[in-house]
Amino acid sequence: MSTEYIPTIGIEVHAQLETKAKMFCPCSTHYGDQPNSHVCPVCMGMPGSLPRVNRQAVILGLIAARAMRCTIPQTAQFSRKHYFYPDLPKGYQITMYQYPIGTDGVFELLNEQDKIDAGIEIERVHLEEDSGKLIHDAQHGSLIDFNRAGIPLLEIVTKPVLKSSRDTVRYLKELKRTLRFLGISDVNMEEGSFRCEVNISVHLSDTEEFGTKVEVKNLNSFRAVERSIDYEIKRQIGDLKKGIPIQHETRGWDEKEEKTVHQRYKEGAADYRYFPEPDLPDLLIDGEVLDESAFDLEDIPVRRVRALIGRFGVSSYGADLLMSGTGSPEDNPYFIADFFVEAVHTHGAQGTQTANLMIGPIFEYLKKTRKSLDQTELTPKKLAQVVKMVAKDELSSASARMVIDVILEWGGGVMDVVKREGLSEVTDEDELTKLVKQVIEENQQVVEQIRKGKVNAIGALVGVAMKKSGGQANPKLVNEKFQELLLK
Ligand SMILES: [Zn+2]
Repeated sequence: MSTEYIPTIGIEVHAQLETKAKMFCPCSTHYGDQPNSHVCPVCMGMPGSLPRVNRQAVILGLIAARAMRCTIPQTAQFSRKHYFYPDLPKGYQITMYQYPIGTDGVFELLNEQDKIDAGIEIERVHLEEDSGKLIHDAQHGSLIDFNRAGIPLLEIVTKPVLKSSRDTVRYLKELKRTLRFLGISDVNMEEGSFRCEVNISVHLSDTEEFGTKVEVKNLNSFRAVERSIDYEIKRQIGDLKKGIPIQHETRGWDEKEEKTVHQRYKEGAADYRYFPEPDLPDLLIDGEVLDESAFDLEDIPVRRVRALIGRFGVSSYGADLLMSGTGSPEDNPYFIADFFVEAVHTHGAQGTQTANLMIGPIFEYLKKTRKSLDQTELTPKKLAQVVKMVAKDELSSASARMVIDVILEWGGGVMDVVKREGLSEVTDEDELTKLVKQVIEENQQVVEQIRKGKVNAIGALVGVAMKKSGGQANPKLVNEKFQELLLK
């Protein structure tokens, strides 16, 4: 029998949807306001109040389910999930149980070769409402803020298919980017709008059956996810080797001690006494909501990144930066990437050079001035023009940066800036010949040495010519001209 253990990991993500109103009432979802200022009889669970489904939440949920290529049912259904805790005023949570809005999906990821791999299998995507928030205060004891109660949540559950903490974090990062780019959630981990729970089990490599799974909560950063998975795998293998069985439990991550700690033993589904929510009709997913949640799958971030790398020759590091979403107008996270694609695709600039200018001087300028790209006069067309001049040796790389900096700060057309700053390189054949011939005439001693075989001395003549041209000659062409006139 093998003694090697294999870990199996599944992830549940809860993301608050970017809607203005709560899931079942018109209260605001705005974060950070005075506690209990966004409440009403519905989200406070008052008897006799009736929930009403927020249409926008359904649309956003469907966009997420479709981005994960889930099967979308014709009808979804809300259920009541009962548990008793002070943050849940009704004594039950309204959530989708038997009939979620998406099942059996695949979430695409790029592998280390920058190719889209088989992806992560998604078990289900469903909608539910958030609970209130308990605040434990030394002076006042435990307080409850119900502003969060009823905020629309999207739950995304993977199948138990992940094998390491590294894969898990890779999945979570891409998921976070996808939800943000598609306008589904602001995915702010600090404000709790993107929360994850990890299910971890280990089993012997020669058995098919999964081990008992342990759920880990309170994971507020990717680092916490990574560390808690690694810790838990080690703990479970250690216990099993000592003959201690694994308990089906919920554990929390203790950031300070860097370990997981027992919180409670896990309820089974029966303990929640699920039943269909009698105050809400079944949710018909018909033509209209399907139309409104339709989008081009090529617009999911992972496919855009792949296109930047594969079609436009950008490095994966560069593609991630172009997709970092430092954006505008109107907070369009694709704004920078679109700007790049327009320069390259529409105006014919070379991809790698354009990307280098964007993630180099342009990003530096935007960061320094806290401006967005649309607040400057740089356009994709101007950027393309600069890149093309460099390619034709009409502008050095250093001059290109300077032209870009001037346009970002002061505006103006590319040629105006090049002329005004005296940056254009002399590439005119006649002018170059004249310059080089003059240098040859004035430096006969060096020329003789070169003709006798001391070819390296050409470097000295190139230096003289460059100085004479005030730095505006193209050194490569000057060098070639010397070779042509002296060595052939
Ligand atoms: Zn309300």
